[in-house]
Amino acid sequence: MANQLGGMAHSRFKRGSAVFKCIHCTRRTRDTNGDNGKAQMCEDCYEGSMQENGMSDSPEFAAQYEADMRACYQAAVNKGGVIAGYTKQ
Ligand SMILES: [Zn+2]
Repeated sequence: MANQLGGMAHSRFKRGSAVFKCIHCTRRTRDTNGDNGKAQMCEDCYEGSMQENGMSDSPEFAAQYEADMRACYQAAVNKGGVIAGYTKQ
């Protein structure tokens, strides 16, 4: 048994402007709304991930969700993020 790595940071709530790396696009970002920080994603990737959830929750609107998701991820890449399949525009 090694040390404990679990237990996602409850003690680290939104603390002003802690900077972290987005786990999705690797961009350095900060917690701007309390949600993207918990997810360790920049706002754009966080929003994109919400759209991605929508795709699976509402298959009838999947095409719209997918378009929105792509727009979010594209925005992250345009700001300097790196996501496979997207090119900075
Ligand atoms: Zn990101």
